[in-house]
Amino acid sequence: MNGCVAALSVDTGKVVDIEIMSSYCPTCRKISKMPRSIESETFAADHVCHSNFQGSALKMEAVGATRIFQRSIVKRGLKYAHYYGDGDSKGFINVKDTYVKDSVAKYECIGHVQKRVGARLRKLKSKNKNLSGKGKLIDSFIDRLQNYYGIAVRSNVGNLSGLQQNVIAALFHCSSSVEKPMHGQCPIGKDSWCYYQRALSCGKKPNEKYKGLSNEVLNTIKPTYLELCTKELLTKCLHGKTQNSNECLNGVIWQRVPKEVFVCLKTLKSIALDAVIQFNDGYKGCVEIFKNLI
Ligand SMILES: [Zn+2]
Ligand SMILES: [Zn+2]
Repeated sequence: MNGCVAALSVDTGKVVDIEIMSSYCPTCRKISKMPRSIESETFAADHVCHSNFQGSALKMEAVGATRIFQRSIVKRGLKYAHYYGDGDSKGFINVKDTYVKDSVAKYECIGHVQKRVGARLRKLKSKNKNLSGKGKLIDSFIDRLQNYYGIAVRSNVGNLSGLQQNVIAALFHCSSSVEKPMHGQCPIGKDSWCYYQRALSCGKKPNEKYKGLSNEVLNTIKPTYLELCTKELLTKCLHGKTQNSNECLNGVIWQRVPKEVFVCLKTLKSIALDAVIQFNDGYKGCVEIFKNLI
């Protein structure tokens, strides 16, 4: 019956706004059990309701996101340009047209996009018999390619053309073998994510220890892999962030109010706001509040 939806800045990781919701009001419950009379009606009219959310708990996330976006200009003096949400995309669908149509663009979680590389290739393999077998598309190759895809994304924050070049290079990098090295597109220099180019820049002989892929297998998987290298998708990954800070905020809130214990909205609000202060600024954040109490 209780839930919190928070907007955090992708740049700073701090909480910008939070919507604290409860569908339960103890007074409303009491009123519902009272016989109908003029007293009970005025009692109901006068009470300050503790419930600020009606409907299914599944909708809470979308409703919270909508409220936060709708008050952004008035309450926070800002417009949200990008949305980087965890969970399903219901929240995004509800806020994407907040200011004008499609005014909010969606960011993708790098972790999720990276996992898509593995999922798509495994699906392709299950459909295509020519990809299974020794020396073909083995699972460890898929895992490696997925990891390099992630490295390529994380090492090109804010650089779209570099990012696209790097994710494509990752495919050839992983397909390389002693007989057929393909590191021509990999970034050069001693800080490169490519061991081959790193060795070359130090004047060493590169040591190729993987079996790579045959041209035939490489050409079969290429179209599928390249679908995950489009500028459109990569633009959504340019931020280079994972969703750790969101999960971390959840931890700070639920540590103060365990999910098994029900509290009413008033309590939940003070607890959640205290968690936000701690999360954003630590104990230092409390100083301003103490000053205002004097
Ligand atoms: Zn009420
Ligand atoms: Zn390489």
